[in-house]
Amino acid sequence: MSTSSKTISWRFFFLLAILIILFIIFVRTPEPCREPITYRLGNVDERFNLTREEFRTAVNMAAAMWGKPFYRDLFRDEPDGAIEINLLYDYRQEATDRLKKLNYKIDRSRGSYEELKSRLENLKAEYEQKKVGLDIDLNAYNAKVNAFNTETESWNRRGEVPQSVHMWLMKEKDELVILSDNLHARQEEMKALVDTINSMVVVINEIASSNNLDIVDQQNIGNTLGREFCEGFYEYKNGKRSITIYQYDNEYRLVRVLAHEFGHALGLNHSKSAAAVMYPLIKSDSLALAADDIAALKEHCKIY
Ligand SMILES: [Zn+2]
Repeated sequence: MSTSSKTISWRFFFLLAILIILFIIFVRTPEPCREPITYRLGNVDERFNLTREEFRTAVNMAAAMWGKPFYRDLFRDEPDGAIEINLLYDYRQEATDRLKKLNYKIDRSRGSYEELKSRLENLKAEYEQKKVGLDIDLNAYNAKVNAFNTETESWNRRGEVPQSVHMWLMKEKDELVILSDNLHARQEEMKALVDTINSMVVVINEIASSNNLDIVDQQNIGNTLGREFCEGFYEYKNGKRSITIYQYDNEYRLVRVLAHEFGHALGLNHSKSAAAVMYPLIKSDSLALAADDIAALKEHCKIY
């Protein structure tokens, strides 16, 4: 064998080895977004008054938003899908619903915040005033009950109770029952007032903490705080992926929040463009990706 043919075969094997290594690297690191990410519905709390199918429609709409500009599915609804999607009713939604039932205007605007704060002050004053009145009447009632008991016992000790006294005691007893019913109703009213005040504090704090208005989540700011004050949350923990939605105001907003969390599931971070789905606040009610979302996805998924 000549020296030159030896060099050629050595070069051939060297090239082959490089090709094999490149092939392995290529196969081992699949491009992101190559296969659709699967998802499934988890818990849908019925207190939102949203059926499972209505929630599914919103989830499917949000998932489809991401693939639409590329004419492909980036997500797929499957019974054993990888991302579990939940609608979780918590104390903030409860507080919001309670106030809405009382005809309070609740949104995340500064106007709503200021109005709630001033109504909270009025309610607190009303509570204090009613409590003073109720305490006075409660004490008076207890004194009357004690007097009635003393009177009844003393007549009982004497044995014979004259008919006129008996009639008077019965009348006195009926009056005490009426008084007791009245006090009980006022106590219930106070309890409802306290519930309303507590609901208002929850909602006011939420608006204040979300740094005013329309926040979706705060993934880039500490987890605990972000989790506590947001409408939605994407989590990848112990190999399990989930999206949890905490608030439901209307369908547009729900789809926007879901689409935002799906964006995190794709691996996207927050955008600086206010029109983008990946902007941390909801500043648009469009149900289509913005140019900035599309650019981020192209960059991340290497799709064109
Ligand atoms: Zn986010």
